[in-house]
Amino acid sequence: MAQLDSLGKVLSADILIVGGGISGLTAAITAKETDPSLDVLLVDKAVASKGYAGMAGRTAGLLSFVTGEDDPEDFVTYNLKEIGCYLNDQVLLRDMAHCSRRITEQLATWGVEILHNEKGKIDYAKWPFPWGTAAIDPDMCLNMSDHAKKLGVRFMDHIAVVDLLKQGERVIGAVGFEVQNGEFHIFKCSTVILANGSQNYDITLLWCGTGNGLATAWRAGAEMRNAEFGCMCDFARVDPKGWLYYGVHGGAHIAHDHLQNAKGENVSEKYRPGLHSSMDPVAANAWLQEFKLGNAPISVDASIFSHPAFFKFHPKALDQMHREAVKANFPMGQPYQVVPGFIGELGCVRVNHQMATTVPGLFAVGNVAGSGSARGGAVPTPPAKIHGTGILNALFMGSKGGPAAALHAKTVKSFGPGADLDPAQVQALKTRILAPMERQGSLTAHELIH
Ligand SMILES: Cc1cc2nc3c(=O)[nH]c(=O)nc-3n(C[C@H](O)[C@H](O)[C@H](O)COP(=O)(O)OP(=O)(O)OC[C@H]3O[C@@H](n4cnc5c(N)ncnc54)[C@H](O)[C@@H]3O)c2cc1C
Repeated sequence: MAQLDSLGKVLSADILIVGGGISGLTAAITAKETDPSLDVLLVDKAVASKGYAGMAGRTAGLLSFVTGEDDPEDFVTYNLKEIGCYLNDQVLLRDMAHCSRRITEQLATWGVEILHNEKGKIDYAKWPFPWGTAAIDPDMCLNMSDHAKKLGVRFMDHIAVVDLLKQGERVIGAVGFEVQNGEFHIFKCSTVILANGSQNYDITLLWCGTGNGLATAWRAGAEMRNAEFGCMCDFARVDPKGWLYYGVHGGAHIAHDHLQNAKGENVSEKYRPGLHSSMDPVAANAWLQEFKLGNAPISVDASIFSHPAFFKFHPKALDQMHREAVKANFPMGQPYQVVPGFIGELGCVRVNHQMATTVPGLFAVGNVAGSGSARGGAVPTPPAKIHGTGILNALFMGSKGGPAAALHAKTVKSFGPGADLDPAQVQALKTRILAPMERQGSLTAHELIH
């Protein structure tokens, strides 16, 4: 151990969770619920202990689920036929359809506020998701991290995990560094849950996943699945100066169902009536056909923002959206021009129904394994791209992976103290990981990133 100590700070836990967004927090809570005696350590390169981590930290708004008035089988059929091109893992898809309501209702017990109606039931709209869309507190990560702490989950902020330590095929730990002072960290644990998000193209602030988790899993020998579906077409808003905006500020989320041409005709109704998943390529084709007919520019009829369902948003979320819209010089309620654009989101770590990867001891939940789970079929992560299913997906995968990882950790623990870490393996990884810090001359970090 003396040798290990000289290489960095050595810590141990039964379960190490990498990433404290919604999926990591869900896995932490459900692992502890499964076996409170397990030592669960959650590390994040941001500040997960205070809810400032992940995509949903201060951005969560819509949570979609299959309500009591819906048939879960309709949801399964829709996903198979309209979105996943029949490449879905139907068992997992059906599982999510049937338990999404329970997952949503359970959130209240974790301190997460969801808008309720006067009868005390979760209030939901049948828009923009044809099943149910509820309005959720933007502080949900903060509330969940508070709840996790009460259950005894330990948090370490500002820790970036880079690689896994293995003995043979099995994971026995991980290494990384403190992002502020560079201190090297060595974790000894029988079970690791990767919950560290997707890789994407810096679509907006917060939508800028670097794909760390994918690289970590890849280097550890984990199989990947559905990486070929990492890209998709979405709409971007064009501002008067010709700048393009994607994602929230682009208003692209609603563009697909509310396109109108220069004559004021409803293009969406003409080519694809009804509500659809956000990334339906038919909408891009509708844009192209109208362009060819000379009916450009194509814009979005933003009167949808006065749709009564819109005002069912959580008041805090609505207030935040209005403030963001003003900041982006994009007053809500006005039509805006859109063009199709190419974006993508990759989360291809292959997992089974328990969210176990192909490497023993390694689990993966949320966006890092969204398409690798195959639940959504031929789609990028988080599967299906129906609004509000990003959060549902993170909750669903986290609540499958947490208990499964707990059982794994408990079983390994029952065999004894676990494998000793190999200082030579740690030294080799440390040298490789820190090598860029030693480089002289040539590119600066900013040039490289650019
Ligand atoms: C602006 C915005 C608005 C959104 N609105 C909605 C919505 O209304 N409804 C909806 O359903 N979905 C929405 N989404 C999508 C949804 O928030 C995500 O799909 C979901 O939160 C993903 O959760 P996750 O835990 O899988 O990953 P993430 O939230 O990406 O969390 C990954 C975590 O891992 C950490 N991490 C990464 N690498 C490392 C490393 N090497 N070491 C340590 N830590 C690491 C990151 O810091 C991060 O905290 C929105 C996303 C954005 C960006």
